[in-house]
Amino acid sequence: MSKETFPSVETLKGVGPKVAERLQRIQIFTVQDLLFHLPIRYQDRTRIRPVGALRAGEECVVIGSIAHSEVVFRKRRMLLVSVEDGTGRVLLRFFYFNKSQRDNLSVGVKIRCFGEIRRGLKGPEMVHPEYEILHDDEPTKVEDHLTPIYSTTEGLHQLSLRRLTSQSLQWVSQNNEPTLDLLPSPPRIDGQNVSIIEALKFVHRPPPEADTEALSSGKHPMQRRLAFEELLAQQLSLSKLRLQMQKQDAVAILPKGKLYRDLVDALEFELTGAQKRVIKTVFSDLSNDYPMLRLVQGDVGSGKTLVAIAGCLQAIEAGYQAVMMAPTEILAEQHLRNFSKWLEPLGVRLAWLSGKLTTSKANEMKALIASGTANAIIGTHALFQQGVEFKNLAFVVIDEQHRFGVHQRLALREKGIQDGMHPHQLIMTATPIPRTLAMTAYADLDYSVIDELPPGRKPISTIAIPMERRQEVVERVANACRNGQQAYWVCTLVEESEALQCQAAEDVYRVLSQMLRGVKVGLVHGRMKGKEKDAVMQEFTAKKIDLLVATTVIEVGVDVANASLMIIENAERLGLAQLHQLRGRVGRGTEESSCVLVFDPPLTENAKTRIDTMRNTNDGFKIAQVDLEIRGPGEVLGTRQTGMLQLRIANIMRDQDLIPLVQEYAKQILEEYPHNVDAVIQRWLGRSTEYGQV
Ligand code: ADP
Ligand code: MG
Repeated sequence: MSKETFPSVETLKGVGPKVAERLQRIQIFTVQDLLFHLPIRYQDRTRIRPVGALRAGEECVVIGSIAHSEVVFRKRRMLLVSVEDGTGRVLLRFFYFNKSQRDNLSVGVKIRCFGEIRRGLKGPEMVHPEYEILHDDEPTKVEDHLTPIYSTTEGLHQLSLRRLTSQSLQWVSQNNEPTLDLLPSPPRIDGQNVSIIEALKFVHRPPPEADTEALSSGKHPMQRRLAFEELLAQQLSLSKLRLQMQKQDAVAILPKGKLYRDLVDALEFELTGAQKRVIKTVFSDLSNDYPMLRLVQGDVGSGKTLVAIAGCLQAIEAGYQAVMMAPTEILAEQHLRNFSKWLEPLGVRLAWLSGKLTTSKANEMKALIASGTANAIIGTHALFQQGVEFKNLAFVVIDEQHRFGVHQRLALREKGIQDGMHPHQLIMTATPIPRTLAMTAYADLDYSVIDELPPGRKPISTIAIPMERRQEVVERVANACRNGQQAYWVCTLVEESEALQCQAAEDVYRVLSQMLRGVKVGLVHGRMKGKEKDAVMQEFTAKKIDLLVATTVIEVGVDVANASLMIIENAERLGLAQLHQLRGRVGRGTEESSCVLVFDPPLTENAKTRIDTMRNTNDGFKIAQVDLEIRGPGEVLGTRQTGMLQLRIANIMRDQDLIPLVQEYAKQILEEYPHNVDAVIQRWLGRSTEYGQV
């Protein structure tokens, strides 16, 4: 069904060019768009509340007589009006008022007001309530349904939106448009089969007896019916993207796997079962003549690098180039070291690119890449920013990039296209995402989990210590280092400024170096030159440094097996994902490892939950689950800016039980009702589906 089937908003009463333009700003063009512009919350004006029973934070209607009214001068001039209803008094406070308002609000006058209750010094207050003077002969009227509140834009009032949605609902009743139902059958949700029209009517204008508690928490069956369809639209849109991608061309990579076997033979350890399984899947993906796009998720330390290397070797053995992109300098340098160690003996030639190379060095590298002399290329995102030409790129690995939305994924895919051929892509992340969320957020890509850690890893014991006992921590570190252990000391700062964070690390470094005789202290932070950083990291790896003071630059990927103690200062400032990443820098060797979270009390409720979670578990998936509950999926996936998962009514966490049914419907619609797919997507995702055309 095309958009034109629905009347334009301009056919509605009260919509001229000006209002139409404002509606457009919030993506409303048609009657259907209005129907799917759902309330973000509700006000209850269906009941009159006794003043004596009001609680702070409620929005409610109160009716009473004015017992007192005066203009006072405190810090500023204001009108105070005290209203009494027999059960108590509520104070109305106006900062802006004119003379006639002041005269009208005089003692003895009966008024009806609506506003949010605040706790004042002398009882409940309303600041600038909506109000109406009542006349004795008038019956007191209340609304006959809960009042919906819509998201809006400047110049477009709630009242206008309410009138327009009312007209749209009327249009539905008059036309009884059956095409609004796009599903093969109404889904059964919470024991009810609800049609879309029924759900829309209810959600826009809930009757007074509606379960307001369910409504305000988004758990009402009528809301869930709509949430279901929104999740379905999301799923369909990503599935479509995936189908489109499978129509693109890529080189099928089918070598014998000799290089890979040589690597495995040379490794000083055995690959885990999970690594072998995922590598097999990657090989199978590579053998297709359409581009692979696979997300490999594996907890910190699960050995993702080798999975990536295995893929690179297949591409290289088939005569193509492979590239590995890391989010930070330090991590890219570490990959370079691993690649040199493992791949150079196999005859693989490497090239390296980062933003910090000199122009002549970078040009030298670019020449190696363009001529095809280099088979494996490692670097930061400089790889995609400096007009690098590849000879024949067939495989791209993006490491530790959970902060990618659909748009970035698409953009990167575009970069590597050559003669219509798309490179295969592997994205690796240590941010564990619960399965239901992954299925929804990443439905356009394939997804594997490395669900096993290399043998012999010991759980890291974690303790939390308040700042005032920092000295004990310093002594503990000194003792550990004198006994041959290595440790990290991570400094954090609230300010976003990298400069300040580096400054803090420098200060700590200076103090600890002076205090800890006989302990070799090193420093690494984001403002150091690539070479300096690299030198420090190498000294740490070579045990020439015992204690490494660092900023959170070491957060991802840094891998020094002998380090077994991690101190995180001001741990309360970091999120769970970051804490888990940082802690994952220890516990990589055979040594018992521990982590000390130094915190500055008092802790907020969330900070307390984070620190407790860290103390109680090492399991990245459990940590991610808590993280999701605290922060919500938009933040966790880092896709907030891209609009992905900006859902209107659904909430991935709250509604995750709907996902299996969503997937069932998505499959059925794609197979049996393909002509309805676009209509479902369009009405929920509207213009934001344009990325689907890439
Ligand atoms: P991550 O998944 O966090 O990126 P890495 O790939 O950096 O993990 O691997 C972490 C460490 O474990 C590295 O030192 C790596 O050499 C080592 N490693 C990887 N696989 C195995 C294995 N199967 N057995 C033992 N050690 C392994
Ligand atoms: Mg890694």
